[in-house]
Order: sequence, then C-alpha cells, then structure tokens
Amino acid sequence: MHDLLIVNGLVVDGTGAEPVQADVAVSDGVITEIGQLAGQRARRTIDAEGQAVTPGFVDVHTHFDAQIAWDPQAESSCFHGVTTAVMGNCGFTLAPVRSGEESLVVKNLERAEDIAAEAMAEGIDWSWETFPQYLDFVDRTPKAINFAANVGHSALRTWAMGERAFEQGASDDDLAAMAAHVKASLEAGAVGFTTSLSVNHETADDLPVASRMADWREVERLVGVMGELRAGIFELAHHPDLRSRDPEKREAYITKMVTLAAATRVPFTYGMLAFSAAEHTWKPVVELLERINAAGGTAWGQVHTRQFGVLLSFETRLPFDRLPLWSELRARPLDEQLAALRDPATRKALIESAESGDFGRAIGAETRKPEWQWVYPLDTPLPPFRSIQQIAQERSQSPTEVFIDLAVAKNLKGFFIQAAANQDQGLVLDLMRHPYSIPTFSDSGAHVSQIMDSSLHTHLLGHWVRDQEAFTLSEAIKKITSIPARAWGFTDRGVLAEGQAADINVFDPATVSPAMPELLYDLPGGARRLRQKAHGFAATVVNGEVTVEAGEPNHTHSGRLLRGPLAGN
Ligand SMILES: [Zn+2]
Repeated sequence: MHDLLIVNGLVVDGTGAEPVQADVAVSDGVITEIGQLAGQRARRTIDAEGQAVTPGFVDVHTHFDAQIAWDPQAESSCFHGVTTAVMGNCGFTLAPVRSGEESLVVKNLERAEDIAAEAMAEGIDWSWETFPQYLDFVDRTPKAINFAANVGHSALRTWAMGERAFEQGASDDDLAAMAAHVKASLEAGAVGFTTSLSVNHETADDLPVASRMADWREVERLVGVMGELRAGIFELAHHPDLRSRDPEKREAYITKMVTLAAATRVPFTYGMLAFSAAEHTWKPVVELLERINAAGGTAWGQVHTRQFGVLLSFETRLPFDRLPLWSELRARPLDEQLAALRDPATRKALIESAESGDFGRAIGAETRKPEWQWVYPLDTPLPPFRSIQQIAQERSQSPTEVFIDLAVAKNLKGFFIQAAANQDQGLVLDLMRHPYSIPTFSDSGAHVSQIMDSSLHTHLLGHWVRDQEAFTLSEAIKKITSIPARAWGFTDRGVLAEGQAADINVFDPATVSPAMPELLYDLPGGARRLRQKAHGFAATVVNGEVTVEAGEPNHTHSGRLLRGPLAGN
C-alpha cells in the first residue's frame, strides 16, 4: 500500500518534457512509481483531475534565516508551491556569531533586509555560535518546507573581527579565521558562501554592512576555499561598478569576476534586474553571466517575474512619510488621516508638500520619491496594472491627487505597487528567457512589511504562462524546479521520477494566481508583515506529506535541512 497516490493529473515532470496523463505514488517520502496506477491502494489518494502535478518549486534566494525561528510554515512561500528555500543570501546570516555580540550581527541585516529588530529580539534564542551549530538548529527546528543555508560574509566578518568588521580591512589572522570557518561551514552542510558589495546594504546607522569593507583579496580567498573543496556556490549582491556608466569601471569589475569564476570553477549567482530599462543597468549584468559561462566558469542569473519594488499603503508606508507635514499626519490613527484627507484645505497642503518636498536618499527597498508612471494601484493580483500617471491623464488631475483619491475611496486600505526596477515587462520577459536565468529571488523572510515577492512563482504561472502564453507550462516548471535544483546540488529533488524526494505541487493551471496581499500584526513583539496566499493550489507535498491543502497550511513539519555534499547526506 502506498502512503500517497495522486491520480488523474497532468504530470509536468520538471525536465521540460511534454506533460503526460499519469498517476504518482509516494511512500516513505519518496516517489515510488509514476504510471497508470488507478485502483491501487493508498493511505491517502488525491484526485488531480484537471490539475497539473509538478515537482515542488525551488527558491534559491530567500532570507528565512531569522523567520525560521518563529514561523515553521515559511509564509508566504509555502502558499506558492515553494518546497525548498535557500537562505543566507547577500552575506546576511545569523551565524557565526560570538555570544554577547548578537546585536552586531543583527545590525548587518535589520535595515538591509527590513527584518524587525523587535521580532528578532523576541523570536530568536541564539542557541548557536558557529555556523555548523546554526545548521543543527535549522535541522531540529520544525519546518513545513525544506531549507538549505549559505554562510554569509557579513556575519562571518563580524564574528572574526567584532566592531572592526564595520571599519577595516581584514588582517592575515582575520582572513585565516574566516577561511577556516567557511571550510567548516561547507563541511557541515552549508551550500554556499554569500556576500554583498552593494551600496543598497547599509546598517540602521548609515554604515556599510560588514562585507562591504572587504577588499578583493578577501573575496578571492573566501571564494577560493569553495574552489579548493570543489563545493558550494557563490552568491553576491554586486558592487555599483558593474552598472557604472563608465565603461572602464564596468570592464575592470567584469574582468575580475570572470577571472575568479574561471580560476576557482565555483558557480556564481546573482540578481538580474533592469532599472528603468536603461541599458547600462542590465546589459553588463547579462554580459557578466555570459562571459563567466564562456570562460569555463558557471553563472546563474536570478530574475524576477514582474515589477520589482515596494508595496505602498496608508497602513504601512508611503513615499511621503518623512516629509514634515506628512510625518505629522502619518503619526495619527488611520481614521484621523482619512478625515484630514477629506478636508479640502488640509488635502491641498498635503498635496503641495508631496509635490515639492525633499524626499532624501532611499536605499534598497526603502520608499522613494514616486515616479508616477511606475506606481500602480493593486486592484487585482495579476496584471494588467494601470499606472497612476495614466489614470491622472485620463482624469485630467495631478498624479498625487489621483493617488490620494484612490486611497481615500478604499478608506486607506488599498495597496499600490511602486516599481523601483523591472518596470519594462518586455525586458523582464527577455531576462526570464535567458538560458542562464532562474526565476527566483523572492527575498522571502526579508522585507516582510515592504514587498510581496514570495508570489513570483504563481505570477509566472498565472501571468506569463496562462495569460501571456510566453512560456509553455513545461518550460516554466523546468525553470523553477530542475534547473535550480541541479545548479544548487539538490540531486534528489526538482523532477518527478522514481526515487526522487516527494516534493510535489498539485494546482489548476487555469486558475493558479497569487491572492491579494493582507496586512497582519503577528510577528514576535507584534511587528507587522504582509501575507499573500495563492489561488489554484489543491495540494503541496513536502517529503511525502501534504503540507498545504486547498491553499491552507496543514501544520505538518515534514521539511528537512538539505545539507551540502561535503556533509555526506
Ligand atoms: Zn538578498
């Protein structure tokens, strides 16, 4: 008798092969048979008539490192078919950390990733110091999906250097300590080493995060450890030189990346976004990908499936929040804000302030001065989205007035997308179609009150596959299952085949879609977060157990820590 039988579904196996009508049998967490199995006995049978049956999705860019301590479900990723999440990206991990210096490690990621410091203070028990100990914590923590973890440069540096990590280059001793810990981490099962050279990553007191103080010699040495061990992937957030308008700066940066990737043979991976379609913001990123692969190295670009930016609302944040007149308004309860905006004189003054104010400097996902052609009311979870500018032209009003009117019409409860990158959907599609690109990079676990990218996989399936017919279902599924699974070394996942781990999605291709986001105040310490569920999922199976059913969590904890190859599992 099988543990689980999924019958009558359209099996899209993750290899890119044509879908076939077949049944899938599971026992002991593993796929045991695929074929015509109707009538066979099973403890549980799911009738997948009219549904696609696919491998679970693999999201290789998340920041669940902290959230895993208080959310075994891994929301919102779990609702969107993600069964394996890789965390510890961009250099931000919670280990290694010296006892008593936890706040220094937290300093690296609270602003860069917008993870509420109060949630981390309440929700994390810091039962580890070394990275291997952190992996043991992840291993024993209940979890609904699988996790794999990278060791992060900012934590590593802070552990090795203390306060000096934010101020100085590393000494030879510092470097030796970091290199030895990268080795120990990989041997314990880390799947990679990650760093950030990006100006978007700052501490709450406007300092660069620790990894940004590293010189190139330090990066070479630490990536070199993975090369010597022939294990691990290198993920990074790029230095602005890659997107510089100065071709010499760009070339120098690309050359050193290509040289390191080719010399070490360590696979490289990084985000590929297009900023306002300006060529220097995305062409060099694609060029780097192609040149690494041409030079005998391996590189994977991580792409988003739509506009990349923040979600605005009166209940969370607005671009105007720091303007003097607005900050006074925004400190008041929502109903008072609504009353103020309905008062013609107050409204006029607020609009003037919004249109002429100084918005200061914003980094990363922080809100910035609105460019109204790239701000969209979120009335439906999938496009088409109309911009505020477009609506303003139709109504012969100013965009700020339209923004306020639309918000007031929903009693200030509505959301707006403010795109900071990937505004041009044609370019988004080109980047997704690149043979070395992977739709991933949800950043799930980070920016939980700012963005809703946990749904990028359901956006791909609902918008690009169904509505736009830009990919076949088989092509899209391959890109979010077997390709990332193989690239990150998850050899027993990512395809539906006998002997593979039973990570499986059952969903309706005709209805699959993100749901509308909702705002909750349920983080440890009461901090807020956005949650976004999905439509169309009958079941998500993790290691043979149904973990999400008809869109709701089953509160099962069949997820595992996936240790890298050197840990020998
Ligand atoms: Zn990241």
